[in-house]
Amino acid sequence: MKLVALLVLTSCALLSAVPAARQGPPYDTVPAVRGAPLYNTAAQDSPAGVFVSRDVYLMGTRARLSTYAVTHDSGLATLESALAVLDDAEEELSTWRASSAMSALNRQPVGEPWTADARLCRMFSDVWEWQRATDGAFDPSIGRLLAAWDIRGAGTVPSHEAHERARALSGMALLAFDPGRCTLTRRADVSLDEGAFGKGEALDRAAAALGDAPWMIDLGGQISVGGRVPPGGAWSIGVADPRRRDHAALQLRMATGSLSTSAGSERDLVMSGVRVGHIFDPRTGRPATFNGSVTVWHERGLAADALSTALYVMGPKAGLRWAEARGIAVCYLIPERGTLRVETTRAFEDLRIIAPG
Ligand code: AMP
Ligand code: MG
Repeated sequence: MKLVALLVLTSCALLSAVPAARQGPPYDTVPAVRGAPLYNTAAQDSPAGVFVSRDVYLMGTRARLSTYAVTHDSGLATLESALAVLDDAEEELSTWRASSAMSALNRQPVGEPWTADARLCRMFSDVWEWQRATDGAFDPSIGRLLAAWDIRGAGTVPSHEAHERARALSGMALLAFDPGRCTLTRRADVSLDEGAFGKGEALDRAAAALGDAPWMIDLGGQISVGGRVPPGGAWSIGVADPRRRDHAALQLRMATGSLSTSAGSERDLVMSGVRVGHIFDPRTGRPATFNGSVTVWHERGLAADALSTALYVMGPKAGLRWAEARGIAVCYLIPERGTLRVETTRAFEDLRIIAPG
């Protein structure tokens, strides 16, 4: 297999949950305003061309797109085209939007097949495959459970009856996927949630649309890079400390592929002793109990995204065993008695310099 460029672990004992690019000039902070995505641009000359960057509000998060180009204008045009792809992906996949294809699928009458176009069909094939491969730790058919626990709102612990009702309406077995015909049929009032794979899919679509120039897209919890190797040989990526998100606990260098981090959120509620985090264990129907973060590198964005969620659900002990057996590059950051323990698979350590092309 042609292994593309790398991930260099430059510092151990440190790592983070919200990867943050550390390349390029400093930025002003401007409040994110939905519907007015551009809130900052920056440009700076370098021997490799002009470094051009845009900060936008996208997919419910602050995002940064960067590239090197011959001119500032051509760099901006490149970023503009990537942004258009990401916008389209959000329009198609976001269940926050009633107009999206995913929302239409979730509204499709029970028992009536819903037809996906070729691109969505490929995406659903991947989603089904990762659900199976992770033994259901990644299972996006838990929309009803997430709603019962009010994960998109303030969070709540539902009554036993409400929880059981939602649980009975969750699970991939309730959604029949026919990859040959590209149809999905709801067997019950199940609801698909894109939260654990939508960003990865959007990044893969942007990667396919971008050209040869070095580029990086940082979507908050997930970063993809591609094109030619940037000046210095790689992009510098900080992975946040799960206890203090504004601090990078680990610095990585990355010249290809996608790095996804799943972690609890500062917004997690603790109610009657239950931490209501946004990542659920589909096998228990309850919030996953791990309190650190897990970072996964994969050549494909969707895979990195789905895997980081699944490995968060599995937790470090089972997750490291599972990932090691499959040669997947994974790093857990585990808060422990005031320190942060770093546990990685061999594949994560092996991702040093792998020459591109
Ligand atoms: P991520 O931040 O990529 O780990 O995705 C977390 C989001 O995915 C949550 O906010 C939910 O919308 C959704 N989700 C939560 N638990 C799961 C799960 N076990 N499998 C699939 N999607 C999930
Ligand atoms: Mg994910």
